[in-house]
Amino acid sequence: MSISSHLAQINQRIHAAAHQAGRDPATVRLVAVSKTRPSADIVEAYQAGQTVFGENYIQELVPKLAEVSEAVEWHVIGHLQSNKVKYIAGQVALIHSVDRISLASEINRQWGKLGKICNILVQVNISGETTKSGTTEAGAIQLVRACALLRNIRVRGLMTMPPFFDDPEAARPFFAGLRRLSEAVTAENIAGVDMAELSMGMSGDFEAAIEEGATLVRVGTAIFGNR
Ligand SMILES: *Cc1c(COP(=O)(O)O)cnc(C)c1O
Repeated sequence: MSISSHLAQINQRIHAAAHQAGRDPATVRLVAVSKTRPSADIVEAYQAGQTVFGENYIQELVPKLAEVSEAVEWHVIGHLQSNKVKYIAGQVALIHSVDRISLASEINRQWGKLGKICNILVQVNISGETTKSGTTEAGAIQLVRACALLRNIRVRGLMTMPPFFDDPEAARPFFAGLRRLSEAVTAENIAGVDMAELSMGMSGDFEAAIEEGATLVRVGTAIFGNR
């Protein structure tokens, strides 16, 4: 099956999950995760109507930024090293994976040089697995507060990656946990911070994530096939 028919299927499932949850489907955006995929696949997806693309690796994203001339909205979703931030400054719409103040400071510095503001999400390790990136649940509010003091970044929400389960229902409590944390951050009323976005849900579990409040679902293999 083609990328375009996969996309049509995924979008249909997003709509159905939103309706199921009593949500407006327009409040859920699909981030097509194009890591390891050639630029031609991104262009093909774009021509089928997909505009938002998520990449994990800066060394892979940089050549794609040059190769893809379409009006793509790029998101960074993977673990980001501070020394790589300079290569993408001003070129991505959202960084989902900010999990430490040193990284936030470097994003702030690089975007500041351009006189621009970078939208970011704080990545939370909601499951507490030691192998996962992300700030602890307890550390999240502190990190959001620290980020709020930086003039060239804007915190727009939270992101998480639950453990892998065969059964998507098993991931649901982690999605619900991120939503509750986002509500707790909102209740802190931190100046300049909003919790508009909840980035959660991948190919195997995006419907459960939408039912728990996801506004950004990050889907790779279900669109582009196995990596
Ligand atoms: C690879 C990746 C995804 C997409 O995973 P699929 O299972 O292929 O849909 C989503 N989020 C992050 C952070 C990833 O690294």
